[in-house]
Amino acid sequence: MSAPATLPRVVIVGAGFGGLWVAKALANAAVEVVVIDRQNYHLFQPLLYQVATAGLSPADIAAPIRGIVGAYRNITVMLGEVEAVDLAGRAVEFEGGRRVTYDYLVLATGARHGYFGHDDWEAFAPGLKRIEDATEIRRRILLAFERAENETDPAERRRLMNLIIVGGGPTGVELAGAIAELARRALAKDFRNIDPRAARIFLVEAGPRLLPSMPETLSADAKRRLERLGVEVRLGAPVTAVDASGVTLDGARIEARTVIWAAGVAASPAGRWIGAECDRLGRIKVNPDLSVPGHPEIFAIGDTALTVDAQGKPLPGVAPVAKQQGHYLGRLIKARLRLGKPVGPFRYRDYGNLATIGRKAAVIDFGWIRLRGFPAWVIWTLAHVYYLIGFRNRMVVALSWLWAYFTFQRGARLITGPPR
Ligand SMILES: Cc1cc2nc3c(=O)[nH]c(=O)nc-3n(C[C@H](O)[C@H](O)[C@H](O)COP(=O)(O)OP(=O)(O)OC[C@H]3O[C@@H](n4cnc5c(N)ncnc54)[C@H](O)[C@@H]3O)c2cc1C
Repeated sequence: MSAPATLPRVVIVGAGFGGLWVAKALANAAVEVVVIDRQNYHLFQPLLYQVATAGLSPADIAAPIRGIVGAYRNITVMLGEVEAVDLAGRAVEFEGGRRVTYDYLVLATGARHGYFGHDDWEAFAPGLKRIEDATEIRRRILLAFERAENETDPAERRRLMNLIIVGGGPTGVELAGAIAELARRALAKDFRNIDPRAARIFLVEAGPRLLPSMPETLSADAKRRLERLGVEVRLGAPVTAVDASGVTLDGARIEARTVIWAAGVAASPAGRWIGAECDRLGRIKVNPDLSVPGHPEIFAIGDTALTVDAQGKPLPGVAPVAKQQGHYLGRLIKARLRLGKPVGPFRYRDYGNLATIGRKAAVIDFGWIRLRGFPAWVIWTLAHVYYLIGFRNRMVVALSWLWAYFTFQRGARLITGPPR
């Protein structure tokens, strides 16, 4: 594919929150837009934990990219995994030598989980980033109960009924609450030889409190609510080893067959493709207009970029940052091509921070007001349904949550994947 003589071509790698919002901002403009992703769908990652804990099905939180931008004549969608960038030839490259040339390149390839240099832990403690991760975690959780049901050795049965979540940020807190409710409520009457309510769910965090990005009062509230659901919270407990039979925490040992990693992230390798300066997480250090230093035609946004606020503090890896950067970048590219008004440097507007705990409580920090418990959960629910892409997904998710709220049931309790 080579660039046409007429319209400038913007190539966007990644159709997550950042990339998709650039494409939308450029819809119907006098530019050719090529959106490339290795998946054919956009994934709403904030609800992945619900798939991992059998509350929702994968299709409820994903939408085909072609369905989202296919109606815009100037946007082409391409399925493929980018492996390199030819800076001199201004082209992205795929395996097998396929290339797509660009006039402007947007790197919006997100992040994956990081194991602080212990990549060997991943086999025992999968992280949650893609749909395949969520269905694998769901499989491990449900299989642990199935195996415990047939296990005669009490020590092994105990190991099977211990579940550990490593990392006390929003994902760890949300997973812990949902797994506790799954065990205590949804599975409670399903087995004959075991009582799923006796499962022990551990949430371990190296730092002194849960939800470190939230005010201390909300962290304490989240901890209290999790403990009420039966979660055992271990703070100040850095993980020093993970293996097939459990986790070592600074000398102490918890035996468990199911460990889930919600502790660290690492940016995609996009920085290496262009030889850019990156921070220790691999995020590309960008200029205030999100361009890559020395390459005014290349931009990095979302989880794969390091951007800072007015105080020089790195912006968090959350969906609103990626979306606002995507929208800004669409306007900036239009301005550069004299298709829109000039824009200044990127500024992030922080509308707040939220996390849910179980099926009817949440904590929210809007800055000017803090909410907790049921009212916070109602806002969390409305916000997530509102921000989901696609009317069908919104309807299905809202109905599933309503159903779960009244019945405590989780309908997607399917063990899928390789044979056991
Ligand atoms: C489990 C979980 C829970 C979260 N919860 C919240 C939350 O509650 N609230 C919140 O605001 N944020 C949350 N986040 C963070 C939020 O999802 C991210 O900050 C946001 O998705 C970043 O957007 P992005 O566009 O940078 O990357 P992504 O949304 O990750 O998109 C990257 C895209 O790039 C594609 N891609 C990657 N590499 C390649 C390649 N080589 N070639 C082609 N395509 C490629 C991927 O397939 C993907 O579609 C959560 C994240 C996770 C994992």
